[in-house]
Amino acid sequence: MAEKTQQRVAIVTGASRGIGEAIARSLGEQGRHVVCVARNAEKLDAVAKAITDAGGHASVKTCDMSDHTAVGALIDTVADEHGRLDILINNAGITRDNLMLRMSDAEWDEVMQTNLRGVFIACRAALRPMMRGKWGRIVNISSVSALVGNAGQGNYAAAKAAVIALTKSIAKEMGGKNITANAVCPGFIETDMTDVLPASIKDNVKKITALGRFGKPQEIAAAAAYLASEEAGYTTGQVITVDGGMTMC
Ligand code: NDP
Repeated sequence: MAEKTQQRVAIVTGASRGIGEAIARSLGEQGRHVVCVARNAEKLDAVAKAITDAGGHASVKTCDMSDHTAVGALIDTVADEHGRLDILINNAGITRDNLMLRMSDAEWDEVMQTNLRGVFIACRAALRPMMRGKWGRIVNISSVSALVGNAGQGNYAAAKAAVIALTKSIAKEMGGKNITANAVCPGFIETDMTDVLPASIKDNVKKITALGRFGKPQEIAAAAAYLASEEAGYTTGQVITVDGGMTMC
């Protein structure tokens, strides 16, 4: 095992763009060593460079979160290389939207593999190094779709709701080990994921959002960074909704 890294070490999945990039940058500003994870190495390098250019510490690991052997190996490798793993942010996610009558088995399975099973494998692997360090923060990025459902997103909403249940269960199991687990439910946030949606859907979202606008990745990162902080030590099993007042639940 390598020499122990001085800073707390955080893994952020889906850190190559969007919400994950914003979370990685926030944790870098908090003084964490941020391990940026996704599939696109070039984009990850750019995010890690931005963190180090700003005076932080970061490194890059490519991993496909739907490749469950690779996910387990990734977590073990990071914990070995740094002698610790303190923070896990499960942010990587995909959509394969379709109405229920048309949804294929493949669309269901792909979303479950990345958005749910990948999260389970990562959490399970992260718990051992966190227990060794007697401190841990798990933050799972869910969605308002998990809370209220969404037409065309039966697969995605189900996976994200299961992530909340998983998060609460980890919180109950791990409270005695000083490991917290919380979820963040973003509303409509301006990223590549939502950019592709038709204008009619975007207009409707604005209408049903109290603040009358879309959210920014940094506004989700602020919630995630709080939940990953030292100060959030008495917050566990919680679901923080950051949706501009879209759902109010
Ligand atoms: P983006 O599509 O902009 O980014 C997704 C990120 O996940 C990318 O970094 C992508 O990197 C990574 N990723 C996707 N699939 C995999 C995979 N199989 N293995 C590893 N990394 C992967 O999404 P957002 O930033 O908008 O979303 C981030 C999270 O927030 C997701 O979990 C999403 O479900 C959730 N969310 C987003 C909302 C929104 O309005 N934007 C609303 C509610 C929840 P790469 O392609 O390089 O692998």
